Amino acid sequence: MRQKRAKSYRKQMGVYLHAFKFREPYQTLLDDQIILQCHRTAFDLEKGLNRTVQSEVKPMITQCCMQALYMSRDEGAIEMAKRFERRRCNHNYKEPKTPSECIEDVVVVDGKNKHRYVVATLDEGLRNALRVIPGVPLIYINRSVMIMEPLSKASKAVQIAVESGKLTGGLNDAKLAGLRQKDDGLEAEGAPKSKKRSGPKGPNPLSVKKKKKEPKPLNDKENASKPGNTEEAQPKKRRRKHGKSGEKPEEKSKEKSDEKSQQNNEADHVGTHAETSAQAVEEFEQHSQDD
Ligand SMILES: [Zn+2]
Repeated sequence: MRQKRAKSYRKQMGVYLHAFKFREPYQTLLDDQIILQCHRTAFDLEKGLNRTVQSEVKPMITQCCMQALYMSRDEGAIEMAKRFERRRCNHNYKEPKTPSECIEDVVVVDGKNKHRYVVATLDEGLRNALRVIPGVPLIYINRSVMIMEPLSKASKAVQIAVESGKLTGGLNDAKLAGLRQKDDGLEAEGAPKSKKRSGPKGPNPLSVKKKKKEPKPLNDKENASKPGNTEEAQPKKRRRKHGKSGEKPEEKSKEKSDEKSQQNNEADHVGTHAETSAQAVEEFEQHSQDD
């Protein structure tokens, strides 16, 4: 039974830690009555608190609660309470509030447990009032057993909202926000690259230019009067001329080749002439020898 309760308390404190961002040591406001009872029953209050929240607590007492203790004239309880850190509530010293009023006023700021107090009180009315405020761990003592109240409905609602926020927003924010930003960064880095890639596709715009040129010739009749288009049309003619001139070199080369071939032919002819002349000479010589 104790282990089971310890486990549930551990779970509960986990909720206060994560959903309500409590930090150790837990600031624990004590009312005068719980201090008095602990002193009376020799209950180790600090040890009990540490065991209940399963972590270190910082026991605190408000000025009003301290004054209420002075009124009890329980020297032992007063001495015990003097060890605890005094929480300045700034309530009128001469007209102190009741401990429950004081603690509620200190704990609840704008409907929230702003300073993340644990409240240990025997005042059931105060616990009822604080149960409405989300994220207020409530501790009391019943028959010398220190008990932490289960999560209030208000606390559960916030816990569910926080957890569902983590689940639904898992890909959107919270801890994964950093990862997502990195992803966005990668996308942002990738996007320019894709733009650069689309830039190289700009050469494909060359095909777009061709498309532009194609419609213009079609509109040449309409825009023929405009000099710009005629000028644009002329370069094509020039290009065609260039093309023709390009053919001309070929013709020249052909001519050259023809000339070369003619020269070769001439050379051949010369050669043949030479050969023939040589033959003629030989024949002549032979004839002369014969003669
Ligand atoms: Zn006060």
